[in-house]
Amino acid sequence: MEGSVRVRFAPSPTGFLHIGGLRTALYNYLFARHFDDGTFILRIEDTDQSRYVEGAEEDIIRSLEWCGMTIDEGPENPGAFAPYRQSERQELYHKYAKELIDNDQAYYAFDTTEELDQMRERLQKSGNPSPKYDAITRQSMKNSLTLPQDEVDKRLEAGEEYVIRLKVPRRETVRFEDLIRGHVSFETKGLDDQVLLKSDGMPTYHLANVVDDHEMKITHVIRGEEWLSSTPKHILLYNAFGWDAPQMAHLPLIMSPSGGKLSKRKAEEEGIPVNTKDYINQNYEPEALVNFLAYLGWSPGDDSEIHSLDELSELFTLDRVSKGGAVFNHKKLLWYNEHYLREQSDEELAERLRDIAKNKDIDLPDDETLIKAISLLKERVSKIDEILEMGDFFFKDPESYEEKALKKWKDDSGALVRQYRESIESLDSDNFEAATLKSRLEDVIEKNDVGFGKLMMPLRIAVTGQGFGPDLFASMELLGKEIVIRRLDTALEKLD
Ligand code: GLU
Repeated sequence: MEGSVRVRFAPSPTGFLHIGGLRTALYNYLFARHFDDGTFILRIEDTDQSRYVEGAEEDIIRSLEWCGMTIDEGPENPGAFAPYRQSERQELYHKYAKELIDNDQAYYAFDTTEELDQMRERLQKSGNPSPKYDAITRQSMKNSLTLPQDEVDKRLEAGEEYVIRLKVPRRETVRFEDLIRGHVSFETKGLDDQVLLKSDGMPTYHLANVVDDHEMKITHVIRGEEWLSSTPKHILLYNAFGWDAPQMAHLPLIMSPSGGKLSKRKAEEEGIPVNTKDYINQNYEPEALVNFLAYLGWSPGDDSEIHSLDELSELFTLDRVSKGGAVFNHKKLLWYNEHYLREQSDEELAERLRDIAKNKDIDLPDDETLIKAISLLKERVSKIDEILEMGDFFFKDPESYEEKALKKWKDDSGALVRQYRESIESLDSDNFEAATLKSRLEDVIEKNDVGFGKLMMPLRIAVTGQGFGPDLFASMELLGKEIVIRRLDTALEKLD
């Protein structure tokens, strides 16, 4: 590749970073890191003051950090092209808008809202279903193309409100090569003369985006498909400035499992967390989310599935990004999560669990017990915090018994559990081992001529309060004789 690759993630701080935005950031990051000297830039597009959300920028940065994506240039670590917040780059947009006016590529427009409405009404009445402020209509509106120069100057000096509009050519086909979608063409016929600078002095997304991509020497624009329809406007702007446009790559939509775009509402309906922050709060493994998102619209072209961020950077190329929508499969994400969870040692997990438990006000036992409990549980859960839920019987006596499981407590259960209790009571505390506990159970069922489950199920309920969980004998060994006997007594008293 000629010159160094420079890409940017350019979110608007209008809320928490959602999962689609995170994938866009990730693809930009992977693309930059694929090249030894690639640069990954974070630019905050905060020109729409009405949609600004306090804390959103912070959320974006912390979310990228959590995923392990390092930002080479951004608001917190400015590089040669600072500032990296558009709200701090106003002068630049004014300068360039003025430049377009001087080159007869743009003009001041003074039309009031009422005048614009009247124009649209007039055109609609004469049979134009979608009236535009375009090459034809601009000739009969109040702008610097129709008003005499001295009146324009007077209005500007008087501080009258105006916008700056781009002179969109009347009939032209805008063409560009998208690195993912291939050849794309748009007719200018359907376009308004784009507003570049708004009456509050703020640039529109189009102007700021193009000026900054040019100024920051962006080589590739990698963004969601929803921006594809803006691209012709951007190409027109690059042409108007006489600049080369960066290469374009529009990523496929993220689809809901039930079909259609994965909107916020749909995601909520299907129990899919929407914001990166939710994944952080719900204790997902960042490596799992990254690995999963990388494959949501891309694949390396073989059947490998597990890759770290560094490996993904090695493998990632834009030509392997798919055109079609990518379905968000939550089960697959949990599959990745299980993988990365099990890769960690019991000791590491214990340390993390202590933090999680502290936030939830749960008391955990000593390290030795906790680590043993983790080793019994970690193969059975999808997320780290489920260890606390599924394993809470390791840390405290059951306060109640799971209702569904209770159906398995039958008329003869009490008698069987009682026999088992007698049998293990004679065991030495030091000899309270899984294998022995199991063989004692076998003795009881043989003597009573009943199936394994007849005793196993009530026993599990009595000891754990649940109908499902890790190996029961290993769990009882870990709990120790005193606790097991106590729990059996309580259950017999409460349930029998
Ligand atoms: N500010 C736009 C957004 O919120 C950026 C789109 C682009 O990357 O050009 O996604």
